Amino acid sequence: MQTALTNPKAGAEAGSPEMLTGVSPVDGRPLPPVSISTVEDIQKAVAGARDAQPAWAALGVDGRTAALQRAAKRMLVDRDTILAILTQEIGKFEVDGLFSEALGPLDVVNQWAKLVKKGTAEKKVFLNPVGFPGKKASHQLVPRGVIGCITPWNYPIATFFRPVIPALLTGNAVVIKPSEFAPRAANWFATHLAAELPDGVVNVVHGRGAVGAALIDAGIDACTFTGSVATGKKVAVACAERLIPVSVELGGKDPAIVLEDALLTRTAAGLGHWALQNAGQSCGAVEVALVQENIADELVARLRSGFSRLHVGSGRFAETDLSPLATEAQLELVERHVKDAIDKGAKLVTGGERTGEGFGYLPTLLDNCTDEMLVTTEETFGPVLPIVRIAGVEEAIRFVNGSKYGLTASIWTKDLARARRIAGRLDVGTVTINNHSVTGAMTALPWSGTRDTGPGIANSTHSLSLFCRPKSLLVDSNTGPDPFWLPFDRSLYDLGDLLADAMVGRVGQAFRIPILALGRAKTIKKFWSQR
Ligand code: NAD
Repeated sequence: MQTALTNPKAGAEAGSPEMLTGVSPVDGRPLPPVSISTVEDIQKAVAGARDAQPAWAALGVDGRTAALQRAAKRMLVDRDTILAILTQEIGKFEVDGLFSEALGPLDVVNQWAKLVKKGTAEKKVFLNPVGFPGKKASHQLVPRGVIGCITPWNYPIATFFRPVIPALLTGNAVVIKPSEFAPRAANWFATHLAAELPDGVVNVVHGRGAVGAALIDAGIDACTFTGSVATGKKVAVACAERLIPVSVELGGKDPAIVLEDALLTRTAAGLGHWALQNAGQSCGAVEVALVQENIADELVARLRSGFSRLHVGSGRFAETDLSPLATEAQLELVERHVKDAIDKGAKLVTGGERTGEGFGYLPTLLDNCTDEMLVTTEETFGPVLPIVRIAGVEEAIRFVNGSKYGLTASIWTKDLARARRIAGRLDVGTVTINNHSVTGAMTALPWSGTRDTGPGIANSTHSLSLFCRPKSLLVDSNTGPDPFWLPFDRSLYDLGDLLADAMVGRVGQAFRIPILALGRAKTIKKFWSQR
C-alpha cells in the first residue's frame, strides 16, 4: 500500500483511514491504494514548505538549478519505473509515456534556468535627474513563497513539471495536489525531487476535490491549476476570495483547418497523430477537422485506412499505437459523444466501439459532422476525429472563433503567407501551421488560451508573474532633505510652477529651478535641525 507523501523525504505520514483506490484501465485489476491527506496533513505541508522556502531561495538560481538538474537526471535514469506506473495507473503505454512525459524534466530545467536567470534579475530604471536628483531605482522578481499546484490525470508528470520546475527555480517551495486518478505517478516525481532538494521544499497531498480546496484554504501564496472548466471556475473564485494569484489552464476543442491545397499525406499523418496520441486525452488534441469539401473524400479515405490499422493496447513498441482511456467515466463520455453524433446524422467511417480490453476504444472517424453535435462543440477527450466539411475559409474562421474554447488551432496548407493571414484572424492562444499543438512542449513559448480555456499562462517568461512578485528598490544618495518635503512655503509653489512651465516648453525662467531647489533644501534643513 502506498501512503500520502506529505513530505516525500520524511517518508510516509500517518494518513487518514480514507483511501484512493481504483482499477487499472489496462486490465481492470485493482491499483495499490493511496491514503488521502487530512486537513491537518495539508496544513502541515504548507507550514513545512513555508519554513523551508527562505533557505531554498537563498541558494540562488545556480544552486537551485544544480539541485533540480540532479533530480531530473535521477528521473531519467529511473524512467522504467515511471513508465510502468503510467501504464498501470492511467493506461499510457511505454512509447507514449517516454516521449510525452519521461524525457521532459531535464530539458525543462535547463530551459527554465536561462529564462529565470534573465527574467528575475535586478533591472535598473531611468529616473529623470531633475525630478529625482541623487536617486537610483531598480526592480526584480522575488519568489511569492509557497505555490500550490493542482493537476489533472492526462499527463501526470508533464502537468507537474510545467508549473513545479519554474516554481522551484524561482525560489518557491511547492505543495503538489495530483489528480486522484494519478497519485502514484506524483509520488514518483516528488520522491526524486525530494531526494535532491532540502527537506520541506517539495510536498505532496493526496485526495479528490476537497483536498484541492483545502490546499487553497491552507495559506498558499499562489496557485496553478490545470484541469476542467467547471473546477477551474471554482478554483479561480476560491483564490480570488483569498486574494492570491491563480493561473487556470482549462479545456480545449482544438480545430484543424484543412485547406484545398494541403499536403495530403503530411496532413493525414498530422491529424491522425494529434487526434489519437494519448488516446486523444490531451487539452491540445485535434478535436475537430474542418476540411474543404473538394479534398474531403481523399483525406477521409486516407484517415480511414490509417485509423483502422492502428492498434489499441498496453503493450510495448510495435504492438501498440494507442492507449486505452484512463477511466471508465471518460470511456462513457466518449461513447455518449459518438452516439449523439450518429443520432444527429454523422457517418461512422471507422471505429465507434470498445476494444473489449480494459477501457480500450477504437480510433474513431466520423464524417459529415455539424456544429450541432456534442462531438464538435464539447471537449470529447478521446480517440475520435469528427470531420466537418466546409465550403471555404470564412466558414472555418467563424467556426473557430465561435467555439467556447480557444486553446490552439492549426491550418494545413502549402500557402504559408495565406496561412499567416488566417492565423491573425483566429481568436485562440496558439496557431500552428502544418502541425498541431507541438508548442506545448516548448518552454520558451507561452501556452495560453481564450474564452473557457481560461486566462492561465504556462511556459515562457509570461508565466513568471504567477511564481514571483515584483519588488522595487530605491537608493537615495542625497545627504540633505529633498526640496519638496515639509514645511511648505511660497517658494515651493514657485518651483512647481516653473517645473510645469518647463514641461510644456516655456523654459524662459527655467534657470531659477536649481536656485529655488537649493533655497528650499536650506529652508527645510534649518527647520528640521532646530530642537
Ligand atoms: P478536473 O477539473 O476534474 O480535476 C483537476 C484537479 O482538480 C484534480 O486534481 C482534482 O482533484 C482537483 N479538484 C477538483 N475539485 C476541486 C476543487 N473544488 N478545488 C480544488 N481542486 C479541485 O480535471 P481532470 O478531469 O483531472 O482533467 C482533464 C481536464 O484538464 C480537461 O478538460 C483538459 O482539457 C484539461 N487540461 C488542460 C491543460 C491545459 O494546458 N490547458 C492541460 C492538461 C489538461
